[in-house]
Amino acid sequence: MPADRLVIVGASHAGFQVAASLRQHGFDGAIALVGDEPVLPYQRPPLSKDYLDGKIGLELLLMRPEAFYREHRIEFLPGIRVTAIERGEHRVRLATGEHLAYDHLVLATGARNRVPPVPGVKLDGVCYLRTLAETDALRRHLAGAERIVVIGAGFIGLEFAAIARAHGRQVHIVELTDRVMGRVVSVPTSHFFAAAHRAAGVEFSFGAAAMRIGGHAGRVDHVELASGARLAADLVLVSVGVVPNGELAAAAGLEVANGIVVDEQLLTADPAISAIGDCASFPCGHAEGRPTRLEAVQNAADHARCVADRIVGKPHAYSALPWFWSEQGALRLQIAGLTTGHDQHVLRGDLASGAFSVFCYRKGELLGIESINRPADHAHARRLLGSGRQVTPSEAADDGFDLRAAAMARS
Ligand code: FAD
Repeated sequence: MPADRLVIVGASHAGFQVAASLRQHGFDGAIALVGDEPVLPYQRPPLSKDYLDGKIGLELLLMRPEAFYREHRIEFLPGIRVTAIERGEHRVRLATGEHLAYDHLVLATGARNRVPPVPGVKLDGVCYLRTLAETDALRRHLAGAERIVVIGAGFIGLEFAAIARAHGRQVHIVELTDRVMGRVVSVPTSHFFAAAHRAAGVEFSFGAAAMRIGGHAGRVDHVELASGARLAADLVLVSVGVVPNGELAAAAGLEVANGIVVDEQLLTADPAISAIGDCASFPCGHAEGRPTRLEAVQNAADHARCVADRIVGKPHAYSALPWFWSEQGALRLQIAGLTTGHDQHVLRGDLASGAFSVFCYRKGELLGIESINRPADHAHARRLLGSGRQVTPSEAADDGFDLRAAAMARS
């Protein structure tokens, strides 16, 4: 059925890109882009990087200026929450009480901060870092803070820690597991980053659980660990991961299991509803077809392009190579492919020089490549992995082996 009226719920990387790609393809129907944040769609990565650091302002965060939406006939509805999907009527209900009818509905509802079940998470000075509003609040607190505790040593906690240290603040990171970014990167990469942060003056408590965030007169002043240790803090960043926003879909009877479940074309069980980006669990060809939910700009944008292709009559299975980046102080980490579950890793380059790549294999098959301050390796890695071809562990380890030639020849 042709989709003349498209409704997109969630106006961030994924939602914006569907609308933009559809117009690029000449889609002529009506597009409504509904987002519950009160601003034009903006990029999230700089929130924990240049925007937090005060190096760029809001105008450089925005995906496009306001005129773009007018010129491309994208009806952008800011600050409005979609409260229900009425599948039988092919319409969504808005918090305003109004309804929007759709021929096709795209759920791009993303994810929200996970809030740990510990007392004190609402105290003044306890911050989060997902939205523009949260980042603005964090910046205000950072300006007056001296001692900072970061709960969670994932990408966002570490990016923030690097900036806070560069601004001369004391930073202590509390992490439940035994290493940084443990969910996503290999052991050598993890250890290298922890050492770099330590060298910059960041302190760590590994294997440590925050049990209580304590305060005085409503303001945070310490974090208490399960060990009984008390860490003084006038700012606490809680960065312990996210929860996918699947409730809207679940309430409409769609399957949700760590994300809204979709097929290889990113369709839910309802052929009039797609789900994309951080909120979607899809069968990932780069993870042996396992249901996978990724939190990356590449994934959000490529999902969006895949759905736009389908809507304009060019359906195909989603197959894009996952890739990701993070910036922590002077270190730029770039990951191509998914390295989770690898059983062998090979180093290329020199760890001591701070520029190297880690090639991750399972049963001899190259799964993914982590590059630290080696952007050329990352570019070759994407080409290589995107073409589904291999380099052997011994080729990878040999810095004289021409990775570029291998990537070009085999793509
Ligand atoms: P989201 O960005 O989560 O957007 C979903 C939107 O939908 C939100 O605005 C939400 O409020 C809205 N919404 C939800 N429910 C409703 C509803 N019912 N009605 C209306 N609106 C609704 N990725 C990288 O690849 N590299 C990086 O360096 C990187 N850095 C990051 C730094 C930070 C601080 C953060 C927070 C994320 C970073 N990411 C990075 C991850 C990346 O930003 C996300 O993967 C991406 O934003 C996902 O886009 P999305 O559109 O799927 O979801």
